[in-house]
Amino acid sequence: MPFDLGYPPARSRLARPGYDGTCLEDVASHFATEDACREYLMEVRFGQGKICLKCGGISQWHQRSNGRYVLLCCGVFVSPTAGTLFNYTKLPLRLWFYAMLHFANSHEGVGAGFLERHLGIGHGAAFHMAQRIRWHLAELERSTPIAKAGQAVEVRVESLYRVRSGTSARNRANILFAACDGKVVCEVIGYSRQRIALEALAKMVPDHGELFTTSYRTARLFSEYGTRPPRATYRPCYYIENEQETDAIKGFLSYFLWPFQTHHKFASRAHAWLYLSEFLFRYNRRHRSAQIYWDMLRAFPNLTMRTDNPVDTEDLRSK
Ligand SMILES: [Zn+2]
Repeated sequence: MPFDLGYPPARSRLARPGYDGTCLEDVASHFATEDACREYLMEVRFGQGKICLKCGGISQWHQRSNGRYVLLCCGVFVSPTAGTLFNYTKLPLRLWFYAMLHFANSHEGVGAGFLERHLGIGHGAAFHMAQRIRWHLAELERSTPIAKAGQAVEVRVESLYRVRSGTSARNRANILFAACDGKVVCEVIGYSRQRIALEALAKMVPDHGELFTTSYRTARLFSEYGTRPPRATYRPCYYIENEQETDAIKGFLSYFLWPFQTHHKFASRAHAWLYLSEFLFRYNRRHRSAQIYWDMLRAFPNLTMRTDNPVDTEDLRSK
């Protein structure tokens, strides 16, 4: 897929979610052939000269004439795609890398219908591809905690409307947001109850410090009704005291809500976390948006193993 514009791509200086991006020319030159994609995957997952995930020795791999990859250090065949978001895919990897480019450059999110038309694949394959890419982004975000131990964290509970719930008539999901240093994480919680929120928070931001909120609803949720000090300090925000520092959670909501409620309004509550993580991945990189695409390809966490530690490389290394 040679794609040469004949001129260097223009770069923007504005910091906005997805404003700067990666251009097609860059991607086409890196991932021109199926072999280039597979070599890249092998390099990221089983890098030459790094620690081997299978035997713990010095990793060394090469491609056999039949196209399979063998680890010379321990003599096993490995698949570059096994366990990752490309697990068991029959689609060319070039299409996957191209689809991920759209996820990186998009403002309003990428729908399955768009991928279907754009890549010329069936709707089922396109939906699966989109959900896999979103899951991949969610796992990448989960592997880096937003706050260090003891750091103050802002919390906020918001209801998301127009999500299909399947069983109940109330098409609503409660989302718990946490933010620190301009980075946001969130989780869908079943009920807006203090115990559930605190449990979800302990999973999202382990060893967090003091909690605070600017939302009255969240302050009520975390309050002990005068019997004990509240779990989260209420800091009402009547006006913007510092124009440089704006509320990261509100910023995310203004970035997420409109596209979600227009393009993804038939998303179900069970899938809401996937859409949230797609937008969060871009939003948390809003000041380095030219790197979003390469951040997506930085690691390939294992999606088939559901453990507490989502990145399989860390898992295997500790054994
Ligand atoms: Zn080995």
